Amino acid sequence: MPEALVYSIPLTTRFRGIDVREGMLLRGDAGWGEFSPFLEYDDATAAPWLAAAREAADEGWPSPLRTRIPVNVTVPACDPERARAIVLASNGCRTAKVKVAEPGQAPGEDEARLEAVRDALGPDGLVRIDVNGGWDVDTAVARIPVLDRAAGGLEYVEQPCPSVEDLARVRRRVSTKIAADESIRRAEDPYRVRDLDAADIAVLKVQPLGGVRACLRIAEDIGLPVVVSSALETSIGIAAGVALAAALPSLEHACGLATVQLLASDVVSDPLLPVDGALAVRRPVVLDPLPATAAPDRAAWWAERQSRAAAISS
Ligand SMILES: [Mg+2]
Repeated sequence: MPEALVYSIPLTTRFRGIDVREGMLLRGDAGWGEFSPFLEYDDATAAPWLAAAREAADEGWPSPLRTRIPVNVTVPACDPERARAIVLASNGCRTAKVKVAEPGQAPGEDEARLEAVRDALGPDGLVRIDVNGGWDVDTAVARIPVLDRAAGGLEYVEQPCPSVEDLARVRRRVSTKIAADESIRRAEDPYRVRDLDAADIAVLKVQPLGGVRACLRIAEDIGLPVVVSSALETSIGIAAGVALAAALPSLEHACGLATVQLLASDVVSDPLLPVDGALAVRRPVVLDPLPATAAPDRAAWWAERQSRAAAISS
């Protein structure tokens, strides 16, 4: 098998403006790593993604402290019937992350979706909402208690406002916990979240932050509970997120790693899909030969991107 493979896989649902996910798989002594910065990212932004892939390929990861990682089911900004069906089809996920504040929808649609999710999960499930920065401070302060009631209690609210300063303002005015997601994109960002007291929970993604060990250092430094989330990767990239979640000294919340279903296919024979609401801590192996997902016509573009990102890292 070659040392590097480029994949191109359609998404089952359009996500962050793209219909196809593309990336590179790198092989080293320790196994396969995934290098899949989004296409529009510049080289400096892509460099930590390469560091994460090289860590996976060349070093492997610290020893796991647990064997399974509870994960959340994600409910898009859909109608209540579909929301209920998604939760019931989630292979036992006991935590649901529900998208709210979708542009063009009436506020009552969020309440109806949350009521349906609570009904499907039962009283002992956990419901978190993801606002993706869709509110200003006053809207967040008004809406969070309303949605907390509709959901029968919220675990936390993810990124209610775009800026980290506004997350801090909202956090001082509501009793529900706040999680920072979009506010954490580069390695320095988690420290700013901590210094501003802007969140109760930090969402960390392995590739943008430069690898599993880099994320473990950040988690220790900032002293906040961590939710490990994916960057819409194949099972090779998800395995790095699973390795981080498995190595954290404490894991209090379900992780956002049940996302390989968003890709129409995968690069491994045994994808990292939830069983009984959790992902097994394991390392899938790339199919040989790589199936129809291989994209040889994109290999030169990715090799060029890899070498530019490597030049920045060194
Ligand atoms: Mg989010």
